[in-house]
Amino acid sequence: MDNFVYNANPGRVIFGSGTISRLAEEADRLGARRTLVLSTPEQAAQVDDIARHLGSRVAGLYPKATMHTPIEVTAEAMQVVEKLQADAVISIGGGSTTGLGKAIAFRTDLPQIVIPTTYAGSEATPILGETENGRKVTKSDPRILPEVIIYDVDLTLTLPVSLSVTSGINAVAHAVEALYAREANPIISMMAEAGIAALARALPLIRNDPQDRSARADALYGAWLCGVCLGSVGMALHHKLCHTLGGMFNLPHAPMHTAVLPHAVAYNSAATPDAMKRISRALGSEDAAGGLYDLASGLGATMSLQSLGMPEDGVEAAAEQAMANPYWNPRPLERDALTSLLAGAYRGEAPA
Ligand code: NAD
Repeated sequence: MDNFVYNANPGRVIFGSGTISRLAEEADRLGARRTLVLSTPEQAAQVDDIARHLGSRVAGLYPKATMHTPIEVTAEAMQVVEKLQADAVISIGGGSTTGLGKAIAFRTDLPQIVIPTTYAGSEATPILGETENGRKVTKSDPRILPEVIIYDVDLTLTLPVSLSVTSGINAVAHAVEALYAREANPIISMMAEAGIAALARALPLIRNDPQDRSARADALYGAWLCGVCLGSVGMALHHKLCHTLGGMFNLPHAPMHTAVLPHAVAYNSAATPDAMKRISRALGSEDAAGGLYDLASGLGATMSLQSLGMPEDGVEAAAEQAMANPYWNPRPLERDALTSLLAGAYRGEAPA
């Protein structure tokens, strides 16, 4: 075995069905008496209901979380934090809501309880991406890492099938890149393989029956493992491309990850044979990139960036921007190869 370094992120995780009933107890453990509860506008009614579990520990609700954590929204939420003298933030929703909670925690060091309702995995990372003037800037800080995660499978039953699929593949992307990360280590690789396998198993069952509680549990467990991968080791080409495309064209986060992933994996496959073997094994397919494409397209995901709103002249421009400030990647970035990778994803073709 090669030498390795493993950094564990601290955090308390409560997992199961009906676990939301433990919310008040968890707030008490943190000494929180005046919590601010966050959500998107779309989940405001669901969250209103959940907030009842907190009784008098709710100081207020802020249902305006927005994709990509724009700093204007955070600034308004910070005024609410100050006015209410909140002593903890409770984020109920997907990565957008978790992002707002993290942005508040970064500025105040308030403790966070996150109750994830998608598979994005942000709750398990000390990473925050904020958007200012159309540019997304990412930072990592121990204050950003949530103190408590409550996974309640029941809250994911309402996640629409299409978002379940793309959010699940978004999670898989974290694990895939962890397998060939510069800081890859056997613990994270074990979690990555198990995370990919859990999602590959669960997503087809969820597509057939979104109320399948056992498949939902498998998917949420896989999403947590994949989130731990994202929070523990550095990401590479795939995340760089999605970061670039998200910033340039404001494409929807999870569907964009889904369309790009098979192509990024194909780009790296010759340079990372061990990772490819583990991905294929987890998917139960012969080929990692092809297996990811077949999984996502077979579940009805949109595989073309064009259909997600990317302009055709964006292919060259995005390749250029990705080259300008690259992340570490197992295969060096080559301009022409990146352009053809993005052209393939733009058209939604199977990876070459
Ligand atoms: P999202 O949070 O934007 O949610 C998408 C929509 O689905 C929202 O309208 C939301 O209210 C709704 N929704 C969520 N759960 C639902 C449920 N169970 N039932 C019904 N509707 C539900 O989407 P996302 O993909 O979870 O998160 C994307 C954001 O998270 C991006 O901004 C991305 O950059 C960020 N992210 C950050 C990290 C990190 O570590 N910092 C990791 C992953 C994603």
